[in-house]
Amino acid sequence: MPSLSLEFLGSGTSTGVPAIGCACAVCTSDDPRNRRLRPSVLLRGGGTAVVVDTGPDFREQMLRSKVARLDAVLITHYHADHVVGIDDLRRFNMLQKQVLPCWATEKTLASLRHSFGYVFSETLRPGLPNLTPQTIVPGQPFEIGELRLEPYEIDHHVLPNIALRIARKGTQGPVLVYCMDCKRIPEASYEALAGADLLVLDMLREQPHPTHFNLEEALAAVARLRPRKTWFAHMAHEVDHAAIEAKLPPGIRLAYDGLVVEP
Ligand SMILES: [Zn+2]
Ligand SMILES: [Zn+2]
Ligand SMILES: [Zn+2]
Repeated sequence: MPSLSLEFLGSGTSTGVPAIGCACAVCTSDDPRNRRLRPSVLLRGGGTAVVVDTGPDFREQMLRSKVARLDAVLITHYHADHVVGIDDLRRFNMLQKQVLPCWATEKTLASLRHSFGYVFSETLRPGLPNLTPQTIVPGQPFEIGELRLEPYEIDHHVLPNIALRIARKGTQGPVLVYCMDCKRIPEASYEALAGADLLVLDMLREQPHPTHFNLEEALAAVARLRPRKTWFAHMAHEVDHAAIEAKLPPGIRLAYDGLVVEP
């Protein structure tokens, strides 16, 4: 079977867990699964490695997971917890002596150019990130090395986001679906994302939130997407790993930092 894996570099929401200045039971917990860096995953397929999002913990995540080479970076949407570590990609330009493709939608690329314009370059410049923009068009599959990715629009309420259907190039499966920062999945995207071997889904907490799935909404989405296995991520400090996981139906688990899953 061709190799395909996803590593949770960060399973937490935008504040990280523990949250600054909080003494709640989760933020002071001894359970290492209750320590969550900001949301990011590493996709591996064959020899290809792609990091999805570069939040404020990006450097720490690369060190912790001993990542020394990347084939590309993919930015899902322009929110601080997914982008502000982008400057640290320059280490990979130095190590690999090459520019690095940066995949994102036209809207996300425009926001990146506005705030981090200096990171884009077609040529290697010392001391700076050197990213070449690559445009993602929802509905249009693309390939990065050994990986085939299909992007589909999802609704993050405040701005559009993309979910990804991922498989090894030239194969029908296994299929992994990555769907973070989501409040609503459009009908067409439900169809396209259904039936995966493994689903990684936004689940902020039990309480409702304007821009993220809560537990009830995430469970409803899983029921429609019918994956073989599901991992929830982007969790807030209201989520105690052991307590919430004990309430989940079979086949659905909570992610934690450092976990590697295969479809
Ligand atoms: Zn707390
Ligand atoms: Zn986020
Ligand atoms: Zn977001």
